[in-house]
Amino acid sequence: MKINVMTDILEANDRIAVDNSKVFDKHRNLVLNLMSSPGAGKTTLLEKTGEALKGKLRLGVIAGDIETTRDAERLRKYKLPVVQLTTGSACHLDANMITYALPHIDLKKIDILVIENVGNLVCPAEFKLGEDYKIMMLSVTEGDEKPLKYPLMFRESSLLLINKIDLLKYTNFNLKEAKANARRVNPDLDIIDISCTTGEGIPDWTSWLNQRYQKKFGTKARA
Ligand code: MG
Ligand code: ZN
Repeated sequence: MKINVMTDILEANDRIAVDNSKVFDKHRNLVLNLMSSPGAGKTTLLEKTGEALKGKLRLGVIAGDIETTRDAERLRKYKLPVVQLTTGSACHLDANMITYALPHIDLKKIDILVIENVGNLVCPAEFKLGEDYKIMMLSVTEGDEKPLKYPLMFRESSLLLINKIDLLKYTNFNLKEAKANARRVNPDLDIIDISCTTGEGIPDWTSWLNQRYQKKFGTKARA
């Protein structure tokens, strides 16, 4: 008998992810799985997003890291509901870890829940968490060939945020080429250029969030 261990693991994971998504739907949460390599700017984006959404949609965060609670501490300063998951050695989050986090976050007080995945361009894309959308962040201090080297991340994502756009002139990152590469692996991908430093593109990002929230819950979603 041949057992395909990875297939079994992923199938078990997917079942738990479906259970998570039912909990999120019940609490009217739009849930995003935010993925990138380390240092692309995920936590900084969440700081800016919390500010930009203030008085409109309520942001909450589940932050995954291998060690430390630094990201959660950064986000708590912005008074965002946040849970930190430290994975020990695991280089990605899985659905079971999210299930464990749920009792520690008040989902009723959240409209948009972002799950900040462990910084890693490989396996996070394989594990569903119960999210509505996967979002990929790529910064211009990385290579424009990344979509071709790590196609699964880009193929699975609905939106690509190209961050640190203010630094573009100091790099040899080819923005046009990066976008063409990303669309080569995923023709339907939305792409937004942003800078968390200058704020460029942040309104486009928050309007993307708004649209997706309304698509899921309707325009009168939040009474
Ligand atoms: Mg982080
Ligand atoms: Zn992993």
